[in-house]
Amino acid sequence: MKLRTLITRGLMACAVGAVPLYAAFAAAPPPAQAEAKEEQKAIHILFTNVNVFDGFSPELKKGMSVLVENNSIKEVGKNIEKPEGAYVVDGKGRTMTPGLIDMHQHVMLNPPEGTVSYQTRWDEAAGGAFAIHHMNHNILMKGITTVRDIAGDPLDIAKAIDMGHLPGPRVYSSGGAISQTGGHGDWAGRNVPQEILQNHQDVTQLSQNSWSVDGPDAVTRAARMNLRRGAAFIKVMGGGGVASEFDPLDILGLAEDEVARAVEIAKDNGTYVAVHAYHDESYDRHLRLGTRSFEHGFLISEDMVKRMVTKYKKDKDIVWSFQCFMSINSFGSYDTMPAFFTHEQKLKGVAVGKGARNAAKWMNQHGMFIVGGSDMFSPGLVERIKEDLTCNVKAGFTPAQALKHWTGNAGIVLKWSGPKDPYPTYKLGTIAKDAYADILLWDGDPTHNIDLILDESKLHFIMKDGLVYKNTVVDAEHPYFRPAKAPLTRGQYPL
Ligand SMILES: [Zn+2]
Repeated sequence: MKLRTLITRGLMACAVGAVPLYAAFAAAPPPAQAEAKEEQKAIHILFTNVNVFDGFSPELKKGMSVLVENNSIKEVGKNIEKPEGAYVVDGKGRTMTPGLIDMHQHVMLNPPEGTVSYQTRWDEAAGGAFAIHHMNHNILMKGITTVRDIAGDPLDIAKAIDMGHLPGPRVYSSGGAISQTGGHGDWAGRNVPQEILQNHQDVTQLSQNSWSVDGPDAVTRAARMNLRRGAAFIKVMGGGGVASEFDPLDILGLAEDEVARAVEIAKDNGTYVAVHAYHDESYDRHLRLGTRSFEHGFLISEDMVKRMVTKYKKDKDIVWSFQCFMSINSFGSYDTMPAFFTHEQKLKGVAVGKGARNAAKWMNQHGMFIVGGSDMFSPGLVERIKEDLTCNVKAGFTPAQALKHWTGNAGIVLKWSGPKDPYPTYKLGTIAKDAYADILLWDGDPTHNIDLILDESKLHFIMKDGLVYKNTVVDAEHPYFRPAKAPLTRGQYPL
């Protein structure tokens, strides 16, 4: 082999294996690396005079300073010494909250006509373009710095965001949701020929936003395929849905052995299963088999709520994920339902709206551990995502509780992804030492007046991962407000 070929192959091997190029040739770092070290000097931004909502406590901590170092919070306190060269942002008594976290989002399901049309009118490229538009304009730029994407496949979009190529929130995704044939993940048209369904039984649709699979082995394959692509947890369909065609709300979704297998695969990977389910029968099945995140649940009984609270208080390992706006507002009455729903879908929605008010009341009364997730997708809804928080207050929670569902509690559940956590280094959803620097500044106090979060002119500052995306407070030209590349925090991809 010629020498040049050998060298070229050597270089390629280095690049592929992500081994620093110099490592193979020299023990001492070359000048280029010394320069890089110089560039990596810590960047400090010191916020002064802010009233802090830490993600948990209903009481604001008044007159605080918060020191950000690179992409994390280094210190929260009354008198923080300014590090040399730090850029000071005078908060002027504004309220600082953690970036909001939407724990039930479907970023891929945003074609103009709604979910089902995704399969027939738009290809995946257009689906991705719609997704990134919404993730930037309606999510990140509204102060939602993290989403748990719970059915859908934005995994490569998430990768591009984390590499700094696209703007958008952090994404914890389940990848495609796992459903049985004819379940809430089966979006193939009624008349799709049997041969096509059988030959493509893993994916009965054109996109990879859900799987229609039957039997524990097919569940295993779908779950492992998702995890292989970077999913942080597993989403399964435990019962019927409102927006899908073949599945009345009363049915059960995955069978016992299929659920057990999904839980087994999740546990093997140190993560958890989240379930779409509405009524006692499916909640019972999933509680017994080890599912941890319970979505919806708007038709469950008070006895089931008590059972969940007892389990939570004993083991601290399950959560109720509340979609307030979609259940109570959108499904409040037949006429407020999305226009693309059929008559039958609207009737299902009315039943959900009624049950949701009761479920929220009981969960609150008995002290369940709760996160908030909007479930709001499609144009017309996605612009209004933060109304899920104001809805929480209409459903009987305090503004501070609503914010806690969307920050502190959410951050705890995101960490249940264990080794599959795409942002494993720091905490999320809190203003505290060793949390990611995901920070908002508001005029006024949202822990007392939740409605102010809907007024974009009151949101003055959006920081995600130490980078500033919105700032009407101080000189935006300062070099510490780094406009582009983030420090690379996502552990999962060979960047
Ligand atoms: Zn959903």
